[in-house]
Amino acid sequence: MSHQTAPGSTGAPRTNQGSAQNQGFLSFFLHACAKHAGVSWRDAVAPLLAAVGAYALVHLSLASVSALGAMCVGAVAAVVVGTLALRRALGTTARHDATVALVKALLDANRECLKLLDPNGRLLRISEYGAELMRAAGPDQLAGADWLDFWSGSEAIAARDAFEGALQGSRTSFTGTCPTTAGEPKVWQSRLIPVERSGGGIYGVLCASLDVTKEAELAADLRAKEALMSEMEAHIGLCFYSYSADFSYFHHISAGCASVFGLSASTLRERPEAWMDVVLPEDRPIVQAAMQRIAETSVGGRTQYRIRANGGAIRWVQSTAYPILDAAGKVARVIGVTEDVTAEQERLVELDRLAYTDSLTGLANRAALVRGIEERCRQDTSFALMFVDLDRFKVLNDTLGHTAADRLLKSLSEDIQASLPAGAFLARLGGDEFAVLIDDAQDKDHLAGIAKSILGALRQTGEPTPAGTFVTASIGISVFPENGADHETLLTSADIAMYAAKKAGRNGFRFADQVATGRIVDFRLERDVPAALAAKQFVLHYQPIYQPHSLEMCSVEALIRWRHPAHGLVPPDVFIPILEESGFINEVGAWVMDEALRQLAQWRQSGAQGLGVSVNVSARQLRDAAIVDVVNTALRRHGLPASSLQLELTESALMENPELAQRTLRALKELGVRIAIDDFGTGYSSLRYLADFSPDTLKIDRSFIARLESDFAIHKIVRGIIQLSHALGLTATAEGVEYPPQLRLLRDAQCDFVQGYLLSKPVAPEQVFGLSIVGSGAEGNVASVVTQDAGAVPHTA
Ligand code: C2E
Ligand code: CA
Ligand code: CA
Repeated sequence: MSHQTAPGSTGAPRTNQGSAQNQGFLSFFLHACAKHAGVSWRDAVAPLLAAVGAYALVHLSLASVSALGAMCVGAVAAVVVGTLALRRALGTTARHDATVALVKALLDANRECLKLLDPNGRLLRISEYGAELMRAAGPDQLAGADWLDFWSGSEAIAARDAFEGALQGSRTSFTGTCPTTAGEPKVWQSRLIPVERSGGGIYGVLCASLDVTKEAELAADLRAKEALMSEMEAHIGLCFYSYSADFSYFHHISAGCASVFGLSASTLRERPEAWMDVVLPEDRPIVQAAMQRIAETSVGGRTQYRIRANGGAIRWVQSTAYPILDAAGKVARVIGVTEDVTAEQERLVELDRLAYTDSLTGLANRAALVRGIEERCRQDTSFALMFVDLDRFKVLNDTLGHTAADRLLKSLSEDIQASLPAGAFLARLGGDEFAVLIDDAQDKDHLAGIAKSILGALRQTGEPTPAGTFVTASIGISVFPENGADHETLLTSADIAMYAAKKAGRNGFRFADQVATGRIVDFRLERDVPAALAAKQFVLHYQPIYQPHSLEMCSVEALIRWRHPAHGLVPPDVFIPILEESGFINEVGAWVMDEALRQLAQWRQSGAQGLGVSVNVSARQLRDAAIVDVVNTALRRHGLPASSLQLELTESALMENPELAQRTLRALKELGVRIAIDDFGTGYSSLRYLADFSPDTLKIDRSFIARLESDFAIHKIVRGIIQLSHALGLTATAEGVEYPPQLRLLRDAQCDFVQGYLLSKPVAPEQVFGLSIVGSGAEGNVASVVTQDAGAVPHTA
């Protein structure tokens, strides 16, 4: 097929080239038609115009019509009407020129690939712009090409069907992919319009193809995204949704909703409120409030609630919703995701259970108790806190061993639980401490009844201790709000009351009183005692006692110190009275006895055979007949003769309960233990008890020794005490010897033993060997200084 070039087209500027070529295409049409059909071009114009007009109308009717297309339609309509009018009104040449101009304008405006195909599907001609779209050098490059060959596979069949349809006079369409001359695939949306001869029959087919590659790519992309989205939604067990702003319908609801709510997406589309039916009725208000909040405040949020899907087990779900706002800032829709969080919820419940449960007894623990107290304080209604502390459980723990003691604790906790009224809250605070919350605390008698029933339950427990006694407890009761308005004050008040019960002889209960709260500092020190014993915070220091002339160390006095983690090395004056008050002195005293004798045995084994030890015994210890056992056991355990031990008792301790003291002392003396009256001269100084208690030693109080030189009367009294001791067959020991003249006067007075800072301060056991030992030649510098009666003397410790 030869190429017809319109005059002036070659070398035309790029912008004009298209229109010049279109003019060429048009004249080609006109000439080709005339030549092929053997008619004049005028006859050929009519079918061509009809074809172009029909094409434009089809173009208009399709959705993808562009503004340019619309203009084309107007132009074509004008051409059709105008041509008829022109035929009459103008001359032949003028009509031809006008027609050419109009059709040219139409082609110029067109953005499609226009092709005229012969009845065999061969390209008679392609528009300039079409050639450009096909990346051809020009229309000639494609002239004669078989349009049907452009397509492959199923598209080739569709292309042929569309082409044949057009040959039969129908307007057909077809979409397919064919490559450009550069090999780049493009998607074409083609319309095929039959071009009829004026005399009837088909001249050819006009094929107008729109390059829709970009749109097709976008559509494919969108489809892929949609597919990915629905795959994800289907496989991730989450319910994604987009809800209308008034929650009346879903724009979108994912397949995952079936796994969360047990409701299919189609059910929810039909009946958007169906999911609310599976929410537990008691949780519906929470959900509704959350929905309302989003609608009103335009702020998203997260809500957890329970559902019962398909009549099955209750499950926890969590819904996170975000409002999408329109330009005016109003909620346009609500999007969100709902997921099943049952497993997480169960884990949280389990963690909560572990955090608030005592592992041994399964009861609530201290944290749970504190939470319980705080809740009740917030409710502001009267309630009582009972602090239950088992008596002497530490001793049991030591004798039974931990496993058996734990078993006993568990069974005791069950006994306490069984004795409580319904609704009472029982917690174990740790060790042998329990606490009970009673919600109605108006009636003190009622509370007393409950405390008695706890004590009774423990008494009746079938588990006697190895000592044959039953476990008892001391109970302190504090009441909200009288004894405190927060958990700390209430616990402290109950704790103090519990110690008051212990002081009153144990196995009883006490109500808290406000005065007691003032003694909180003492109390705190005291509360640490069992822990201190367990943690070995008590230590013994030893102060030597010497023969005054030779300065031989005859014995040592054991003096306790508390290495307190917070208070440092606490002296005995501070804590002994507290231990005495609380009764802990018995436990601590037993430890002192054992430790002092253990240490003495070690020293004796290391060569200090004649060394003795003095141990202080308080009034409270003397009241407990068990002291005889404690002493005897310790002596035997360490293989020491009773004579190596001296017990120091104060006058006041002896006078507290003289008969009981006398009995205990007699038993101790029968063991062979020596007895010293400590701080002699400061107490009753009743000469009667010297006969009654028949001690072995009088320890003259250091207040006398301090005034020995300065006060002649005191000097006489001290000499008198020493003589009295000797007359009764006792020995005398002077305490608090600080200066050499005191030592000289005591030597003159025939004092048997001396003790004081001049010779040695109390020292740690490992330092005792560094001092002079029995028979090791004690006349060191101290002795020489003393003989010279010099003033300043260096202390040995
Ligand atoms: P205490 O039995 O009269 O013990 C002697 C106290 O006098 C000791 O004080 C000792 O350090 C101090 N002292 C010794 N020589 C001198 C001196 O030359 N000058 C002065 N100013 N003081 C001197 P510590 O160790 O503070 O003991 C105080 C009290 O605590 C003891 O008085 C005793 O009653 C009691 N205590 C100590 N250990 C125990 C114990 O294991 N059990 C009991 N129940 N009471 C103990
Ligand atoms: Ca003493
Ligand atoms: Ca003393």
